[in-house]
Amino acid sequence: MSATSGTVERMSDKVPNSHPALEKYVKGRYDEPELPGDYGRVHAVFDAEPDTPPKKKPSYFECGSTDAACGARVRVILPMTFDLCEDNACARCVELARIWQRDPDECMRLIQSRHDRWRAREDQRRERDEMLDALAKFHRDQERDLERKTKPQRDFGI
Ligand SMILES: [Zn+2]
Repeated sequence: MSATSGTVERMSDKVPNSHPALEKYVKGRYDEPELPGDYGRVHAVFDAEPDTPPKKKPSYFECGSTDAACGARVRVILPMTFDLCEDNACARCVELARIWQRDPDECMRLIQSRHDRWRAREDQRRERDEMLDALAKFHRDQERDLERKTKPQRDFGI
């Protein structure tokens, strides 16, 4: 491609071993997954194996999803190559795709470390919730206890 060709050719900057990915698909006439008319935000997924054969058709995740580079849950992976100049490209995915272009190992390390961080945060949140639950139960028990102790004991001794 020549930058001096003078045509108004759309800019493109394809990232090898990456694919655009979408958050949603639509259902076709026979309930089969289809590409939506509006792609919404376009994320990137990277081929962990560099020699993955090129895809010819979109991959749909009808059950569950997979993680895009930025961590967004995506349910469609398109067969083409992720383009940094894509109009609706997710900014975080573009940033990671640039790193992926330069240094795939570093990119994977960043994604993995974010994944670990998110999991650690989730664990923390769960621990805190469990603690709050235990605390709430403790308070309930105490109140019940107190109520029992301060209730007039008129049923006794008569
Ligand atoms: Zn993204």
